[in-house]
Amino acid sequence: MKKNLLLLVSIFLCLLLVGCGNKTDNKALGKTVAQEKMTVTVLDVGQADAILLQTEGKNILVDSGLSDSADKLVAELKKIGVKKVDVLIATHPHADHIGGMNAVLKNFEVGKIYDSGQVTTSKMYQKYLKTVKEKKIPFALLRASDRIEFGSDGAVLEVLGPQEPLLKDTRSDLNANSIVMRLVYKHFTMMLAADATSETEARILQAFAKDKVRSQILKVAHHTSKYSNTAAWLEAVNPEVAIASYSKENEYGFPHQVTLKRLSKVGAKYYNTADNGNVKIITDGESYQIKTDK
Ligand SMILES: [Zn+2]
Repeated sequence: MKKNLLLLVSIFLCLLLVGCGNKTDNKALGKTVAQEKMTVTVLDVGQADAILLQTEGKNILVDSGLSDSADKLVAELKKIGVKKVDVLIATHPHADHIGGMNAVLKNFEVGKIYDSGQVTTSKMYQKYLKTVKEKKIPFALLRASDRIEFGSDGAVLEVLGPQEPLLKDTRSDLNANSIVMRLVYKHFTMMLAADATSETEARILQAFAKDKVRSQILKVAHHTSKYSNTAAWLEAVNPEVAIASYSKENEYGFPHQVTLKRLSKVGAKYYNTADNGNVKIITDGESYQIKTDK
């Protein structure tokens, strides 16, 4: 009897120490394990963004990483079981966000595209627009106060930015006018801040009430840039968990230490794709869990 108990205790301790391959963190809000009703995966696509939202068999892809990692992204999406991208969103036309668009359009049926409407002359952007036109995919712009509703459980992406008229003469207007969205699924909330800048954040705080900004999880703006993620913004979002995307050896000095300090000041648990690989959030709208590759 005692032996069995000892064995059980040792197995339990081993599991605690070693985990079961993937790392899992439970955030208990009444329950210890969230049912997999909705998942959000911040994909490891190097120094770039690609975020997959899945619920009720529907797939929403926010950004598509760099063109260099487009094949990897397509393979990863196929591995996850994505057959159709129901909604594809380009937060802004920088190469680290739309680099994989052409590969996604080539490899998957895409139901609808939402774009920031910021036109650039880059070959990559022009090719993406041309493909969208050729394939006659419904194409629309997103602006603050728009809503994308999906699934039967009331899941919604509330658009907080950009606002009209678009910001001008900022450090980077393309970043400043990124599409910023807040995912709301029952009691679960996540802020998708794209490459928002301090100007974007200030504008959102001016236009929206605090309860429209506050989110349990924050996809950190602009790969941890110190020119985003202001103290006022982070205090308003007040995230329990912050997830950032960047590559280990990047030329921009990410992660910016000032931002990491600001995030720890608001008490956010920190994950990043460079150290953790894919970071997956599983939620049933009440509690959530975080699973990482590394
Ligand atoms: Zn970026």
